[in-house]
Amino acid sequence: MKKIFPLIIFFALACGTSKRETQKPTENTEKPGDKLTFPGLDRHDPPQTRPVYQATRTVLFDLIHTELHVNFDWENSRLHGVANITLSPRFYPQDTLVLDAKDMDIHFVFLDKQQLKYNYDGKILKIALNKTYTRSDTLTVKVEYTANPDDRTQGGSSAIAGDKGLYFINPRGGNPNVMPQIWTQGETESNSVWFPTIDAPNQKMSQDLYITVADKYSTLSNGLLLSSKKNADGTRTDHWQQRLPHAPYLTMMGIGEFKVVKDSWTRGDGKKVEVHYYVEPEWEPYAQAIFGNTPEMMSFFSNLTGYAYPWDKYHQIVVREYVSGAMENTGAVIFGDMVYSNERELLDGNWESIIAHELFHHWFGDLVTCESWSNLPLNESFANYSQFLWDEYKFGLDEAEYNADNEADGYFATAKSQGHHDLIWFDYSDKEQMFDGHSYNKGGRILHMLRDYLGDDAFFAGIKHYLHKHEFKPAEAHELRIAFEDVSGEDLNWFFNQWFFAQGHPKIVVEQKRIQDSVVLTFTQEQDFKEFPLYKLPMTVSVFDATGRHNHKVVLDKSRCVFTYPVKDTLYSIIPDADHVILAEWLDKKPLHQFEYQFFNGGKYIDRKNGLSNMAKSKDPARDQVIIAALNDPFYHIRIDAIKQCNRLKQDHKAFLLEKIPNMALKDEKSLVRQAAVAFLNTHYPNETITKEVNTAVLNNDSSYKVIGSALIYLSKYDFDGAMLKARQLENEKSGTMMNSLATLYADHGTEEHYPFFQKAFASNLLSGTNLYNTISSFGLYLTRQSAIIQEQALKELETLLNGGAYSAFFAKYAVQNVIYSVELAIKNLDLEILTHEKEKDFLQAQQKTKEKLGLQEILKKYAGLL
Ligand SMILES: [Zn+2]
Repeated sequence: MKKIFPLIIFFALACGTSKRETQKPTENTEKPGDKLTFPGLDRHDPPQTRPVYQATRTVLFDLIHTELHVNFDWENSRLHGVANITLSPRFYPQDTLVLDAKDMDIHFVFLDKQQLKYNYDGKILKIALNKTYTRSDTLTVKVEYTANPDDRTQGGSSAIAGDKGLYFINPRGGNPNVMPQIWTQGETESNSVWFPTIDAPNQKMSQDLYITVADKYSTLSNGLLLSSKKNADGTRTDHWQQRLPHAPYLTMMGIGEFKVVKDSWTRGDGKKVEVHYYVEPEWEPYAQAIFGNTPEMMSFFSNLTGYAYPWDKYHQIVVREYVSGAMENTGAVIFGDMVYSNERELLDGNWESIIAHELFHHWFGDLVTCESWSNLPLNESFANYSQFLWDEYKFGLDEAEYNADNEADGYFATAKSQGHHDLIWFDYSDKEQMFDGHSYNKGGRILHMLRDYLGDDAFFAGIKHYLHKHEFKPAEAHELRIAFEDVSGEDLNWFFNQWFFAQGHPKIVVEQKRIQDSVVLTFTQEQDFKEFPLYKLPMTVSVFDATGRHNHKVVLDKSRCVFTYPVKDTLYSIIPDADHVILAEWLDKKPLHQFEYQFFNGGKYIDRKNGLSNMAKSKDPARDQVIIAALNDPFYHIRIDAIKQCNRLKQDHKAFLLEKIPNMALKDEKSLVRQAAVAFLNTHYPNETITKEVNTAVLNNDSSYKVIGSALIYLSKYDFDGAMLKARQLENEKSGTMMNSLATLYADHGTEEHYPFFQKAFASNLLSGTNLYNTISSFGLYLTRQSAIIQEQALKELETLLNGGAYSAFFAKYAVQNVIYSVELAIKNLDLEILTHEKEKDFLQAQQKTKEKLGLQEILKKYAGLL
């Protein structure tokens, strides 16, 4: 699972409770007259409870195979199903089978044609078997049922905004703008909404899925499409078979009038594996541009893990109103519609991190599965780290380290706002809490530290060993540790205990003192040892002197560690943790000139980033030289940072800036740099002719919609009519990114003439992901400034958005609330005016205003009715 939308995540979690479930008190078995006492326990105190421990589900039966026959009642959003579930008792004899089956109608349960008695409470189907089965037996239970996903009240987590399992999108075709479709979302335990199963990640099964649909629909599921048969009633039944066992939460279906773009990957042994992209017809021409690097990724990860991609095929599908970012269903990955981009939009950024993330899950998650949600980092930390691995291979180390730095910041921010917990979190109160900045961001950084410590050979050999040892099985975190121990020969409990089974991170202060021919370096760990570990931290320290760079391997294993290194002549700089791997908050107390030296000689992205930022905020004479050098950095994010610092340059650099920054705005190869340059010129030199020339040139020639969008907003500040005219022309671009920029402009400046733009935008199918959500927000702001007539017209648009996907509805709700707030304010103002007119005995005016007020009250009522 790949989560997205940090804004929503943050908000949702800020509203969530963090209190833990209270344990039921243990039964008091004390009898009167019982004289036994123990020191430290007062017999009259309330009984003590054991701490919360979220145990792995006990395995009474092993799932072996599931055969499903499903068809759909689109009209009522229901699924009719027959499930044949084959299982075997794990160890102890069983006479009862307990299945997860949420909000279903259970019609019959059979075993060998014999009808069985069962108990069903809407969540658990408890079946009385016809005899006691032992572990040498295999049995197949048949359940006939109807699934009612829409009867479920909305649950889910910050990463997954729903737990309906099965989603009917626009099933009755009421919204002409959304292609009717059905898709599923199993993680965490939602697939048991649409088929009865043992819905736990420590189960593995193969499956045959027979999907019956109208002939116009394409279907997608796990495994291979074995047959596709037309039925007498005009429907078609597709038979998908997942041959290799996987966990029930990975079972998937996707149905709709999708176009299938066919690609393939050739395994090392020459076998061809199908790689298809399922998209809506309008996006067929762009599927290859969006997903086309998938086969290369499959080769890359197969080589890196030493385990060739094991599944029968690898298809990816893009669905509407998806409840998360993407999901790693085995060989049938779902993406939210934010990935829909045309080639021009892809210039501003691709979706390869998320594509890599889901693909890597096919080793970590699908092949070896976390045995419980407490062990989720065994899935998500690796998927998160795959983004680094792909970036490093495909786009270079700077790109990888830039993104890794953001990942670390994401962890620090969520730990600060939501609190710390062990990475392997046994005392969460709700399993959905596991999908947070720990399991993903922190876990990814921990794996990077482990790789740095063990070295690439041992790290990837450890991964290979782990995958082979636990293939097609569930695993827990200790099994990962043991795999690395087996390979490296080293006891790694120290590493796993502090990073996987403890909370927090080190806070390190570094101080240095020059004493004659040496430097004394003191590292102090300042985290609170009552809450957080005293870490053992192996790292490399770089000391730069007259004879060059000297790397020293050190291990911090005390709260204060002191190291002394020789220095020849000048001490130019010291970089603690020179590989920038340790997940820590650092306070590096070194003289400023060492940051300057680090910028030019450290070599790594973080060296330049920190060198630049420390120099930029100083008054050091070398400051300007560093900022100017950073404008020419080979890595674009350093160039962006440098542009943002250019306002600190001395006045005598103005001529240089007015030549250099426009040049960057027009010619830099990265659109984000051009955008930053345009922003800089318009913020700091809005009245210069060159700034206006740059805006015009960008609006006419830039390839990036983002850069054009920025220039347009700036243009509106000094040439309002020109900007609005240009905006009108740009309304014809087939781009959600462009629409988003126009909506931003119209939020502040749009009149009733621009209402059709919003109507067209929401109907266009081009808006998706953040472009859609921002446009909804802009629409809300736009409406606050419109007449009652437009506000009345907009009710229909808002109602459609409120009934759309969870995220659209979330933003539409805020748009509605914004309008309500503005109308309430207008009513208050009218009240004051009415009062004044009445005082002045101008009853005609008072009457007029009262009429206006009544109109607004009508609007208010209608808007309130939307919520
Ligand atoms: Zn994931």
